[in-house]
Amino acid sequence: MDDCLFCKIIRSELPSHKIYEDEKVLVILDINPWTRGHCLVFPKKHIRNIFEADTNTLSHLILAAQKISLLVKEKLGAEGINILQNNNRLAGQIVDHIHFHIIPRYKDNSLQISHSTDYQGNDLKEVVKLLTGNR
Ligand code: AMP
Ligand code: ZN
Repeated sequence: MDDCLFCKIIRSELPSHKIYEDEKVLVILDINPWTRGHCLVFPKKHIRNIFEADTNTLSHLILAAQKISLLVKEKLGAEGINILQNNNRLAGQIVDHIHFHIIPRYKDNSLQISHSTDYQGNDLKEVVKLLTGNR
């Protein structure tokens, strides 16, 4: 897409810190990293988000995400990794070109990814019914 930020990076119309590239996938450092080595893994094909992704592209993306996770673990000494993937504005998607965040975690880093919610989870049976059609 002409005005897509990541498509511009793929076409080298914008600078980036490239970490890995193959025929289908590009991996760059996030410009506003949450931790050291925070990477973004995205396809060279413009796909908006998970709802629109094809099987082949998704397979390549998740395998690249694993490759980068192992790389970051080995080379940067990350002791854990969070993989985050946002879809639509409500979920925090800012760049409308599907991407996985690879967020390395280090012992002494202050990053908090917390589970804090006002949803009590007291309608699980109803949710199962809605999602599966079963009681
Ligand atoms: P999301 O909120 O999941 O759409 O994430 C978009 C991410 O892209 C954010 O973490 C931004 O910091 C990152 N970002 C925005 N512009 C650039 C850029 N030019 N190069 C690298 N990362 C970027
Ligand atoms: Zn794009």
